This record gives sequence, structure tokens and C-alpha cells, in this order.
Amino acid sequence: MPQRAVITGITGQDGSYLTELLLEKGYEVHGLVRRTSDLSRSWIDPLYRDPVLRERRLFIHYVDLDDVTTLRRTLIQAQPAEVYHLAGQSHVGLSFEIPEATCRWVAMGTLGLLEILRDLSAPARFFHASSSEIFGRPDMIPQNETTPMSPISPYGCAKSFATQMIRIYRQSYGVYASNGILYNHESPRRAGSFVTQKICRAAAAIRLGVEQELRLGDLSAQRDWGDARDYVRGIWLSLQHDEGDDYIFATGQSHSVQDVAEIAFAAMDLDWRSYVKHDERLMRPAEPNRLVGDSTKARTRLGWEPLSDFRRMILEMTRSQHRLLSAK
Ligand code: NAP
Repeated sequence: MPQRAVITGITGQDGSYLTELLLEKGYEVHGLVRRTSDLSRSWIDPLYRDPVLRERRLFIHYVDLDDVTTLRRTLIQAQPAEVYHLAGQSHVGLSFEIPEATCRWVAMGTLGLLEILRDLSAPARFFHASSSEIFGRPDMIPQNETTPMSPISPYGCAKSFATQMIRIYRQSYGVYASNGILYNHESPRRAGSFVTQKICRAAAAIRLGVEQELRLGDLSAQRDWGDARDYVRGIWLSLQHDEGDDYIFATGQSHSVQDVAEIAFAAMDLDWRSYVKHDERLMRPAEPNRLVGDSTKARTRLGWEPLSDFRRMILEMTRSQHRLLSAK
């Protein structure tokens, strides 16, 4: 019998890489997608069109996160050993514009899943994709699993609620549930609304003469940016441990938005200073202090380590955008 896993948010960056990883490991994968998801434009489309996988080892179920009855039915029928909960509104900036929807999906969506999990006759291990944004503007640098949560965005607040609920269900009901406190992670599959991909795409578009300039907010903003493929390995490792727990997944190194621009534009033989314009309207209402993670616990307990390199990742993302735009 293959190990069976359910993934929420299977069409996203992490969901698609995790699907590939689990299929490689011999899992049967059940992906939950919302009614409005466009599968044909998602990264899992090539996998789902593969007749060897489709409806044999890769199954898609249409379920919205706030449709708890259908969620319950789907989980009861799938009987997974592992549930990876990655779905949700994942953009911090957007969460200031749609705070209620962000909280409904990110916070209450996770609670709904925990309630279902509690009732399952065959218990499943549960992973929750938490975020460094739960720390807000921390006094402690780097942050670890004991750093107090003090979010400064609706997204961070919703993730804090969900992170704490995971802890409560673990302690109070003995549910196997783990938080992966994920620092920013990128890849060629990163959605275009995130600053790294926005920069990589713009550098490629300017090189091709499709665009003339790039407008950005705070160039000095710093993040601990890792590679999604490393983080997805960590996500899987989290559920291979005997007990549920909380783990920071981070590189421990921070880079600025300007660093991304320098690498991406140089990859296209351009000087970023000639094309990047500051735009006050793109400043975040509340910019976190340096979010840098200490992943010692994940390294020692799970044997996880990030293998990629920041510069290589930005180069790969920019070249990938160049290929995509050239093909249009
Ligand atoms: P992503 O590419 O934006 O993917 C988000 C996924 O969630 C997509 O599959 C999306 O489906 C789905 N989704 C969104 N709202 C939904 C809803 N209401 N009901 C059902 N599905 C919904 O995000 P990601 O980068 O893979 O991140 C995965 C998880 O890690 C997210 O929870 C994110 O908040 C968290 N995280 C990510 C990072 C990072 O740097 N990437 C850092 C910390 C935490 P559609 O295809 O239909 O849009």
C-alpha cells in the first residue's frame, strides 16, 4: 500500500514541488483545489495530464477551504497518513486590502482542518505552513521557535492564530500537528506578485524591450530568502519525525531587495540603477525588522539543511523569466 498524502494548495509554488517530491517517494497524492483554481495554468498540470499518474497516484478534489462539510468528506474518503496544509492567501501586502478573507482562509481554514483531524478514525499527521511574519518586528535576531509572536500584518496575525491553534491541538488533544515556520522562499514558480519574481521578470522584460522600467518600494528591505525546493524537503521531513513539533526553516542569511535587483539585472547585462525607480506607493504599511531565522532545531532534529545559494536562485529565476517571455 503506498503512503497516502493530502495537500491543500497543491497548485501553488510549494504544493507543486511537494507533489513532485512525494510522487518520487512513491506516495499516492490527493490535492485539494478550490473551485476557481485554473489547473491548466498551474505547475501540476503536466503531472495531472500524465496518464500513468492521473487518477492512479495523483487525485484532484475540488474543495474550498471554507467548505468544511466537503473538506470533512474528502478527508474521510482519502484516509491520508499525512496532510500538508499549504493553501491560503499567501501575500502579506494583499492581506492589508483583504484582511477578512485572509483571516477566513488562513486562520479559520486551518482551524476547520484541525477540527476534522480530531475526529478522523485513522489519525493523520498534519503539517501547517506557518510564516516568519508571525514575529512581526522581533527584538531577537535571529529568531527561533521560542521567539514571541507579535505580528504586524493581517497575514501575520492570521498565521499566528493558526500556529497557536496547532500548538493547542497538539497539547490538548494529542493531535500530531507540526508548524513549519517558513521564511521567505522563492523559485522560478514564485507568483509574479512577489518582489523577487517581480524584479526577475522586469529585468528579463527590459532586456527583451517589452518594458522600460521597474517601480519598487523600499530597496533596503531585508529578507532571509531561501529556495522553495529546500523548504519543501523540510516540510516533508517535519512529518517524518516521531512527534509533532515546531520548526524554523530559514537560511540564516539576509539580503536586500537591492541585492535581488543587482543580481537579476546583471544576469541580463543591465545596470539596475538605470531602470529601477522608487515608488512611495509601493512601501508596505508596516515593514518588519530583520527577519532572519535560526534553523538549528530543524538541522539537528530533522537533518535538514538548505542546499541552494541565493545568487544562483535569483539567476535561475531571471533566466527562467527570460525564457518564458521570449517564447511569447
Ligand atoms: P502560493 O504559491 O501563493 O500558493 C497558495 C496556494 O493556496 C495555491 O494553491 C492557491 O490556489 C491556494 N489557495 C489560496 N487561497 C485558497 C482558498 N481560499 N481555498 C483553497 N486554496 C486556496 O503560496 P506558496 O508560496 O506555495 O506558499 C505555501 C504556503 O506557505 C502558504 O500557506 C504560504 O502562506 C506559506 N508561506 C510561504 C512562504 C513563501 O515565502 N513562499 C513563506 C512563509 C509561509 P490557487 O491556485 O487557486 O490560487
